[in-house]
Amino acid sequence: MAPLHDEKAADDSTQRPISNILFIIAMQTEASPLVNKFKLAEEPDSVFPKGVPWVRYNGKYKDLNINIVCPGKDTTLGVDCVGTVSASLLAYASIQALQPDLIINAGTAGGFKAKGASIGDVFLASDVAFHDRRIPIPVFDLYGVGCRKTFSTPNLAKELNLKVGKLSTGDSLDICAEDEAAILANDATIKDMEGAAIAYVGHLLNVPVLFLKAVTDIIDGDKPTSEEFLQNLNAVTIALDLAATKVVDFINGKSCSEL
Ligand code: SAH
Repeated sequence: MAPLHDEKAADDSTQRPISNILFIIAMQTEASPLVNKFKLAEEPDSVFPKGVPWVRYNGKYKDLNINIVCPGKDTTLGVDCVGTVSASLLAYASIQALQPDLIINAGTAGGFKAKGASIGDVFLASDVAFHDRRIPIPVFDLYGVGCRKTFSTPNLAKELNLKVGKLSTGDSLDICAEDEAAILANDATIKDMEGAAIAYVGHLLNVPVLFLKAVTDIIDGDKPTSEEFLQNLNAVTIALDLAATKVVDFINGKSCSEL
């Protein structure tokens, strides 16, 4: 079956200049440099339900209203709420409350060197899919994989010289044989824990989503993923911050259809 397409391109709202951007970022370490760069302030008057750990930063940058939202720290364990469940809930609540013209899911990812990924590369995802939703019943199998083309931004990719690749999402940082086979079937270059879930919510609520993913670890390399991830997180976050700023500068003054 052909991958599902984002239908936003047919919508009138794609012709208006973009004025409201929403960044969804899973980890505080990934978000902080961008919050500082765009001089955003944490909003205490949360638009979110009372008691959730979700954090929102807001401010104006050039002609744009920018919100950065993070799922925050787990209320019991104190670590970042990474993964698809928090990402989906946060995406849904943020779209409802903030009505963004465009979402950017920025974060880190594992990369496959066999597909051309290196540490510090920043990728724009052309497609997303899940690799850990195995439902071996006809049609449900396709639903589980949830393969989807992302909102197409050929001018942005070209102008900023970003690498473009397919993204595969699952709820584990490590990889098992089944996930590996599914990632191969998804033809993915990069692997994360949120992307396809956010794409699903964007599709449901008809908001275009861009995926900007910086490679912290090489999955088909010889270093253990968690070690390599932690070792490279800070340096790679700087690359992500730089790319995200260039993307926002490019978006400023343009409509979705010009991206
Ligand atoms: N031990 C880390 C856990 C972070 S989980 C810590 O607490 O500091 C990894 C996060 O980075 C997720 O948000 C995920 O989207 C991304 N990520 C980076 N490398 C990944 C990989 N190889 N596989 C899956 N997700 C990865």
